[in-house]
Amino acid sequence: MIDLDFDRKHLWHPYTSLQEPLPVYPVVGAAGVHLHLENGTKLVDGMSSWWSAIHGYRHPVLDAAIKEQLGRVAHVMFGGITHEPAVELGKLLVELTPAGLDKVFFCDSGSVSVEVAIKMALQYWISKGQSSKSRLLTISKGYHGDTFAAMSVCDPVTGMHHLFNNVLLPQYFVPEPQIPFGRPCPAEELDTMRNMLVTHRHEIAAVILEPIVQGAGRMYFYSADYLQQVRQLCDEFEVLLIADEIATGFGRSGLMFACEHAGITPDILCVGKALTGGYMTLAATLCTSAVSSAISANGGVFMHGPTFMANPLACAAAVASIKLLCASPWQQHIAAIAAQLARELGPCLACHEVADVRVLGAIGVVEMHKPVNMADVQRFFVQRGVWIRPFGKLVYLMPPYIIGAAELSQLTAAIVAFTQTVSTQ
Ligand SMILES: *Cc1c(COP(=O)(O)O)cnc(C)c1O
Repeated sequence: MIDLDFDRKHLWHPYTSLQEPLPVYPVVGAAGVHLHLENGTKLVDGMSSWWSAIHGYRHPVLDAAIKEQLGRVAHVMFGGITHEPAVELGKLLVELTPAGLDKVFFCDSGSVSVEVAIKMALQYWISKGQSSKSRLLTISKGYHGDTFAAMSVCDPVTGMHHLFNNVLLPQYFVPEPQIPFGRPCPAEELDTMRNMLVTHRHEIAAVILEPIVQGAGRMYFYSADYLQQVRQLCDEFEVLLIADEIATGFGRSGLMFACEHAGITPDILCVGKALTGGYMTLAATLCTSAVSSAISANGGVFMHGPTFMANPLACAAAVASIKLLCASPWQQHIAAIAAQLARELGPCLACHEVADVRVLGAIGVVEMHKPVNMADVQRFFVQRGVWIRPFGKLVYLMPPYIIGAAELSQLTAAIVAFTQTVSTQ
């Protein structure tokens, strides 16, 4: 038996209190789209372990890739040494990401890849003799991670700014885009951003944003036109564009990378989460050769190098996961998931407590008018055999791409049942 009493008294879970810990569910195994609880219950997974387990759990190909790499070497330093999994993964990333992103920095987690992206942007301008360009411009309601530079560009209201205001780097924020995905975006929507750039271009190193899908801060899909116009503004005012595709990368939005919806290439790109198919912690920051050559000019070096950089086990898992994805009809899978999510979640709109239902790719969102009680809702879902973890007003699904129609219906039916329960309270 897992010692839940010890867990409750001694272990922090994400965003929790140790004074009043919320219940946690003991998982002893998993396979395909199912999580196995200690009491024998099997739950259909609607979260892909936070966007990452795109092929489901214990996939034989991914298991084998890690075992094979384990037989060679689990880890070796990346300073002065290289290895096959890193080189192979680098090739795949350069090939798959938008054209022009051909330099790769491997990092340990998404937040670190955002730190690295920001550092790259700052070093780029320092190398060009413009060190006053040291601040970032971003859109509100963003989420970019929990480390300090990443936190500084998270939403200033719903993020952690109120707690850490004294230490967070002051950045520039503009309102979040209001034009939904699929609609053209009038230029006025970017007026505030344009004005900000007119006034502060000499201080701004880069615009950083989540392309198309604002994830953990909002679960909202915005106009591709908006993103295209941000790219144009960045060029016009000579600031770099950092695209944080940690949540969207590797197919989640229906295209391999969300930037492709707008046909743009950012100067710097962050990937993580689904990179290893959810097996190990690994992320990467890619940049164009214009960025890397400025940083490397006159003997310059990029000032970053984590201990576990390019961990071979993680790189081997990532190589196997990307190859598996590319060899599968993933576009069809995701289109089918999108159609089913729209069909089966759409009826939630009939419930007065529901403010909006939206779907893009393998992401389905039901936005309530009021925040839900996480512990209660979680129990409700577990009782119905599904794993769905809402936050705030957002009840959403981002299942593994391998999910079958029947299992997906179990997930959507649980959400429909939930909205009916609230409306009868
Ligand atoms: C999850 C996430 C991060 C942070 O990644 P971690 O691996 O949790 O550090 C950053 N940006 C976006 C868009 C994310 O969804």
